[in-house]
Amino acid sequence: MPIQLFDSLERKLKPLAPAHPDGVFRFYNCGPTVYAPAHIGNFRTFVVNDVLRRLLELEFGADRVKHVRNLTDVDDRTIGQTQKEKRPLAEITQKWTDKFHADCDALNCLRPHVEPTATGHIREQVDMIEVLMEKGNAYRAPDGSVYFKIASFPAYGALSRIKERELKVTNSAFDADHKDDIGDFALWKAYKPEEDGDVQWPGPRTAAAGRPGWHIECSAMIKKHLGETIDLHTGGVDLLFPHHENEIAQSQCCNGTTFARHWYHSEHLLVDGTTMSKSKGNYYTLGDLVEKGYSPMAVRYALLSGHPRKQLNFTLDSMHAAGSALATLRAFRTTLHASGVTHDVFAPVFAALQDDLNTPAALGALFSIINRKSVEASAASFDRVLLAFGLKLDAPAPRANVPADILALAEKRWVAKQAKDFATADALRQELAAAGWSMLDRKTDYKLEPLKKV
Ligand SMILES: [Zn+2]
Repeated sequence: MPIQLFDSLERKLKPLAPAHPDGVFRFYNCGPTVYAPAHIGNFRTFVVNDVLRRLLELEFGADRVKHVRNLTDVDDRTIGQTQKEKRPLAEITQKWTDKFHADCDALNCLRPHVEPTATGHIREQVDMIEVLMEKGNAYRAPDGSVYFKIASFPAYGALSRIKERELKVTNSAFDADHKDDIGDFALWKAYKPEEDGDVQWPGPRTAAAGRPGWHIECSAMIKKHLGETIDLHTGGVDLLFPHHENEIAQSQCCNGTTFARHWYHSEHLLVDGTTMSKSKGNYYTLGDLVEKGYSPMAVRYALLSGHPRKQLNFTLDSMHAAGSALATLRAFRTTLHASGVTHDVFAPVFAALQDDLNTPAALGALFSIINRKSVEASAASFDRVLLAFGLKLDAPAPRANVPADILALAEKRWVAKQAKDFATADALRQELAAAGWSMLDRKTDYKLEPLKKV
């Protein structure tokens, strides 16, 4: 069965398949703005996209997927941060790029094949703006900035279904005096010495020196690294308007062809039932949660516990549940043998993932399989499930002075108990006792102690 995914533009489920004759699936995901640490709401999108990438690789082959994700390293926020800290732009963005990479690694997200930066693609952006100006889709404003003329693209608004009137309200705050129409958006921003410090580049012909508008970077990098038409474009739902709407307008007017064959947006993350904000005290980075004692893998699990196209409410209780689920998976893994079973008992897990990336249904299917009294599965087939979810199960936490065979018995008993197979659990407890060990169950793990000799 092919992977079916909801397309935000056509508003229906559609199968994913590469269109290019080389058979390579072209996949672009809008990346972070590197001026501060990403929060767990950002990481929900990146983790969901990571599962999508893994699924695509399982479907088409690892060498038949090309994944590009950009780094926004010049925009109002990055420049604002350099002004605040009085340090060079490149120094700020490198620091937060490194942090982003470290967080992604901790969350076991695969690196994209290409990770282009906006500052590394000024030429490509300027070229695109010049084409848009030549074609009459863009114009120079009196201050030397360049704007995209949305009236020149009748399909504008197809993705977001935004009405002209709403567009004027939404965009009216920005640079109204420089634009022909209030809905037009900036492709190039003329240099402003009081705001931009030393951040500027030579602009398109006839325009002033300055810097690119944010939206044009994705259009330019996609064209360079993936081509004029891509198979899948994704991002958080907050990027749907205006960012993705503007990307479509720029690319389709410049290239004269379909930009993305499929659009996918994941929903917002709520924390404790409300939007995250520093003032509400419910704003978490990965580092904040690690400091509280949660593992990055538990964060990843929790972020996958809700349907990606529905809002997910994140709580610290959900972190406890995630930790406990991981302990169960880890213990289950120790009971499996390398091979021997040929049929795939985990097919329902993959069926749920392929059906619009339904991660909660897939996890539900997984646990209903491993909670059966006896499961005929090979370690290899279970590892394929873990690979798809991107869950890395560490070896059982090293326990000082506990022999490996005792630890294996304890893990086996833990699985039996999680599966409510109390007869097996009791038998294993007796086996442990006979070997001189007691096992103390706690909520999400257990403790092993040598029995006192009498
Ligand atoms: Zn983008």
